[in-house]
Amino acid sequence: KMEPHEIEMNLKEASLAGLASHSLDILGSLAQRRGISLELDSSEEFSVVCDPDQIERVITNLLGNAIKFAPDDGRIVVHVDDIGSAFRLCVEDNGPGIPATHLEKIFAKFEQVPGQRRGGTGLGLTICKRFVEAHKGRIWVESEVGKGARFYFTIPKDIPLPAEAAGAGAGGEKSA
Ligand code: ADP
Repeated sequence: KMEPHEIEMNLKEASLAGLASHSLDILGSLAQRRGISLELDSSEEFSVVCDPDQIERVITNLLGNAIKFAPDDGRIVVHVDDIGSAFRLCVEDNGPGIPATHLEKIFAKFEQVPGQRRGGTGLGLTICKRFVEAHKGRIWVESEVGKGARFYFTIPKDIPLPAEAAGAGAGGEKSA
């Protein structure tokens, strides 16, 4: 179920820094085994209305890629910022980076940078893009070969909370 109209959203109030911190916990031991340091750079909790499962999957995916491409003893930082009309999360790594020709392509189905044989399906970023766009946010990457990669996504602040999610314990029905 990957087409935008097929994505069912379960909107709730959540902490963006909290979702990032949970993803860091989940992938911490994987990074630790390779001597990679993981850091969260966030000045507050950043409360957002979003589908927390989807957003956590996006963060976990970006973080998983960062760990996959970071060198042993590498460094990964997750930044969360308020940019006015939206919150922005960035996963920064110090891996090989991505050639300019592939910065947009890698978000398309099955696209991988040639010569980077690290397994995977080339679908992770496509799914990330679908989830972010379902929230009316944007996802992109900034990188230069040899200088690491910074994957960004935004979540707008004006996503309305569905009435049943605002009222306490209203049966937990998912909204369409
Ligand atoms: P895959 O399952 O191949 O990792 P993704 O859609 O997650 O699929 O990523 C697509 C491609 O983008 C990867 O195969 C890789 O070439 C490139 N890529 C993704 N993240 C990074 C990163 N942090 N550093 C360098 N290249 C990356």
